[in-house]
Amino acid sequence: MKLGTLLIHSGHETDPATGALGVPVFQTSTFDQGDLSKEREFDYARSGNPTRKALEETIAALEGGGRGYAFGSGIAAISSALGIFSAGDHIVAAGDIYGGSYRLLNTFYKRWGLEHTAVDTGDPENIRRAIQPNTRAVFLETPSNPLLKITDLRACAAVAKETGLLTIVDNTFMTPLLQRPIELGADIVIHSATKFLGGHSDVISGLAVCATEALGKRVYAVQNGFGAIPGPWDIWLVIRGIKTLKVRLEAQQKTAGILSRRLREHPHVEAVYYPGLEDHPGKAIHDAQASGAGAVFSFKTKTREQALRFLGTVKYAAAAVSLGGVETIASYPVRMSHASIPPAERERLGITDTLIRISTGLEEAEDLIEDFENALA
Ligand SMILES: *Cc1c(COP(=O)(O)O)cnc(C)c1O
Repeated sequence: MKLGTLLIHSGHETDPATGALGVPVFQTSTFDQGDLSKEREFDYARSGNPTRKALEETIAALEGGGRGYAFGSGIAAISSALGIFSAGDHIVAAGDIYGGSYRLLNTFYKRWGLEHTAVDTGDPENIRRAIQPNTRAVFLETPSNPLLKITDLRACAAVAKETGLLTIVDNTFMTPLLQRPIELGADIVIHSATKFLGGHSDVISGLAVCATEALGKRVYAVQNGFGAIPGPWDIWLVIRGIKTLKVRLEAQQKTAGILSRRLREHPHVEAVYYPGLEDHPGKAIHDAQASGAGAVFSFKTKTREQALRFLGTVKYAAAAVSLGGVETIASYPVRMSHASIPPAERERLGITDTLIRISTGLEEAEDLIEDFENALA
């Protein structure tokens, strides 16, 4: 089965009890265990819920993993996956990960004694150099946020494997439709399902997929024990979103290609960052590990005033955080997703006050071009 078909026929297209084509929303906290001499699959809804199970099996199938788990947010998925480690353990993380992941590692997990070293994962050798005796995992994100830098997942996972480290990949920007990290050597794949998987800017949700059943048991122990689970209605929205992922993402990606090329020609635009552009420095590696460039790109105006005027004037792009929805979103990383990173560190990473990140929606490309050109004029 091809992925586009698997999005629809993941094993949950009909409810065995009723024949319903939609996955039922099991709005219940507990389950009658009846005859206590018999093993029951469900007992309490933090531990398991049939609606959640449908989503967890779907994402595991899409990523080609052994087990999938759903969480109340992308950050809940990341904190729960990292929850398999212990105080005194160390991980090597990409330097330009999602701002919330940066904050999680630098505040919460630092207090709980999980150390990390941030490196530029553009060169896998930087990972090797950062490995310590207590290193347990490598945490990667590609394309990176917000500068769309590319990390070679195969090469980094190979370095991790040499010393028995786990490779964890945040695959939110690509989705399993465009990139499947487990096939490239990853052990855990994370999603903010809030973004492309949900796809309609109407739900906060997260997922984690483990390559093996054994690793899945460790993450399940955190899901159940730490308890950062989603409710069944939110899960249902993600299940519904996933069914249209292919048509949405392909259309949004096409528009991102058109818009990024047009912006590059604009006199007020300093640079455009998109792995779909021929001269993107990571294009060859990206093309070798992903089947498309995605629907997120960023650009820098020449001055801060131009960036602020663009955000204040643009009509069809909401000036907001988040990405992957049906509506175009223009975000301003220095004030939004990366506001928690100290200014000096931000500047070093190239996240300047002229940088705008775009997630293209399903509007007509022609309208977006006209709108963007007007906002830049
Ligand atoms: C949004 C996002 C997250 C966090 O997900 P939430 O659902 O907002 O908790 C993590 N990683 C990436 C790449 C994201 O874009």
